[in-house]
Amino acid sequence: MKERTLSIIKPDGVSRNLIGAVVKRLEEAGLNIMAMKMIRMTKEQAKGFYKVHEGKPFYESVTDFMSSGPCVVMALEGEDVIKRYRKLMGATNYKEAEEGTIRRDFATDIEKNVVHGSDSEENARSEINYFFNALEIAK
Ligand code: GDP
Repeated sequence: MKERTLSIIKPDGVSRNLIGAVVKRLEEAGLNIMAMKMIRMTKEQAKGFYKVHEGKPFYESVTDFMSSGPCVVMALEGEDVIKRYRKLMGATNYKEAEEGTIRRDFATDIEKNVVHGSDSEENARSEINYFFNALEIAK
């Protein structure tokens, strides 16, 4: 089934010049980039984005991190893209991520793990809408 998902190259990925490396993997895997922009979230915007994690011990830290510098946000489209992109990213903890995944190859920390990807259709829809309006998404 054709789906959309939200991808973020997090501030560590942008500052370490990994935008090209991440985009190359998406393109090589045949995931279509429907929208793409660089943004800098405020602390409040990062808290809104990670609202599901409110109350967890890492909530303050991860929202500081996500608002610490620019991110590249993308809407991706393809067959089964939510699962396919999560597989390309690898596990949250890069030490547990499979060989050849983005996080295994580039992450330096459980928090500084280079990329984000939506984990369900419902979250994908709301996350895409958090960052993009209809005019910004290529049809
Ligand atoms: P994801 O869907 O694989 O990104 O993982 P989660 O939704 O569980 O967590 C969101 C983000 O919070 C992760 O990508 C990490 O950047 C960060 N994070 C998750 N677990 C931890 C943790 O135990 N400690 C810290 N410092 N950050 C974490």
